[in-house]
Amino acid sequence: MPRHPFLTAIVLGLAVSLGPTRSTSTVMSTPDLAALQKMTARFAPADIGADLSALPASERAALASLVEATRLVDALFLRQLWAGNPAVLMHLSADESPLGRARLAYFLINKSPWSALDDDAPFVPGIPSKPASANYYPADATKTEVEQWISTLDDRSRAEATGFFTVIRRGPDGRLRSVPYSQEYQPDLLMMASALRKAAGLTAQPTLKRFLETRAAAFLSNDYYESDVAWMELDASIEPTIGPYETYEDGWFGYKAAFEAFITIRDDAETRRLSRFSSELQELEDNLPIDPRYRNPRLGGLAPIAVVNVVIASGDGNRGVQTAAFNLPNDERVVAQKGSKRVMLKNMQEAKFSKVLVPIARTTLAASDQDRVSFDAFFTHILMHELMHGLGPQTISVGGRPSTVRHELKETYSTIEEAKADVAGLWALQRLVDRGRLDASLEQTMYVTFLASALRSIRFGITEAHGRGVAIQINKFLDAGAVVFNSDGTCAVRHEAMKQAVTDLTREIMTLEAHGDHPAATELLQRFGVVRPEVQRALDRLADVPVDIAPRFVAAG
Ligand code: ZN
Repeated sequence: MPRHPFLTAIVLGLAVSLGPTRSTSTVMSTPDLAALQKMTARFAPADIGADLSALPASERAALASLVEATRLVDALFLRQLWAGNPAVLMHLSADESPLGRARLAYFLINKSPWSALDDDAPFVPGIPSKPASANYYPADATKTEVEQWISTLDDRSRAEATGFFTVIRRGPDGRLRSVPYSQEYQPDLLMMASALRKAAGLTAQPTLKRFLETRAAAFLSNDYYESDVAWMELDASIEPTIGPYETYEDGWFGYKAAFEAFITIRDDAETRRLSRFSSELQELEDNLPIDPRYRNPRLGGLAPIAVVNVVIASGDGNRGVQTAAFNLPNDERVVAQKGSKRVMLKNMQEAKFSKVLVPIARTTLAASDQDRVSFDAFFTHILMHELMHGLGPQTISVGGRPSTVRHELKETYSTIEEAKADVAGLWALQRLVDRGRLDASLEQTMYVTFLASALRSIRFGITEAHGRGVAIQINKFLDAGAVVFNSDGTCAVRHEAMKQAVTDLTREIMTLEAHGDHPAATELLQRFGVVRPEVQRALDRLADVPVDIAPRFVAAG
């Protein structure tokens, strides 16, 4: 049953004038077939495979049940995003015209009738503007009404209303109330719990069994704490992440968690490489190119990093621009007790590399540099970037007062810290090469690969920390003559200048962090966190290069 009268009109294929609660909606012209095909082509189809040959029969059987659970997440997530989604999907599925097929294909990429790459513009006729409240709050409620209601609640009820795992609905009396996910999504969650329990009964791996059993229980009890702890303690060849996690779709308050799933296989070779790098970190810290008094003589424990390959992803974890890595859980109680884990999706990174980064390199780099762009260099630098967040100044002293870099650098912190992890990652890889810990060939590939990757990062602007941090590095390298633009507009790395430029910028940023120097950070951002004209001209050549991938999960059967 549609929950809002206008859905009926959509099912009938009518462009409708919408009710008074949808004040911002208008019937706009929507893209035609050619436009839709162009929009869809921004996502290059990519086969996402994973090697399952090492899994024994018990684990393959468990995996099949997990794939089943993952497919259920999509339907649930569609309804979380918007109450109208199931009806629109049904309508589009029934339309066998070329335009109907194109709309369906693009709907499946966006998991909604709004195009995420185009400021959420609707691409199906008769669709309202995307509601910021998603389907977490009543469609006829206003943000102010919900805020006022929350302010009248006692502590316990307020915690429920603002929690991750409830939706806000109206009772029969018209008054707002919190409804737990376990009740709102009960039929879906019962099926998902049953698939997880089946997998738990099949696996021979105790930590996996425990996560699956506790997560199945959480779906029904609405208490996710124990299963989040079990997820942190996972030590198994299959690494599943399934449940309600990210809150970005709650555009009103950021309270409510969207369902997603990533069923993955641990990459043992990369896991070994990570632990090898981890054993080098103190040596790297002891030799950072900064004043020795800013070095940390005893590095603390590292946040765990898992490198995995995706078998299948769904829900919030598979739409629009694809997730390449994530940090979870989000529950502060679990983070305080157990920390959080970074999961890196290697085969997704590989697909993005071949479908997006390689074409960028072919379009923007000098011919002599193009062949040096390598996935191994790309991924090794990503791993080192993550590790370098843990090196360099963190807790600092400012005028004798104990503080932290984050606290002192305030709004500039994220950008400075991302630039630090990038450039210090290059510095660390060079040092490991120089000390014979990494193959010397990396030196020939990593700078060029970084340059192509940097152009990818700033392609869509420098409004967020990663992109702006990359702009700082490109401009510093240009000024140092380590990156040059040729007369034909392509760019190239000058290896003889690069090594020194990387060391110098690592020193500059880490020293700025050690001093907690907010004015210097602000100046660095203003002067160097910009897209210079020659860089923009290189970016302008990328119009026909895909933005991201549309995965096909070929290992999921
Ligand atoms: Zn980072």
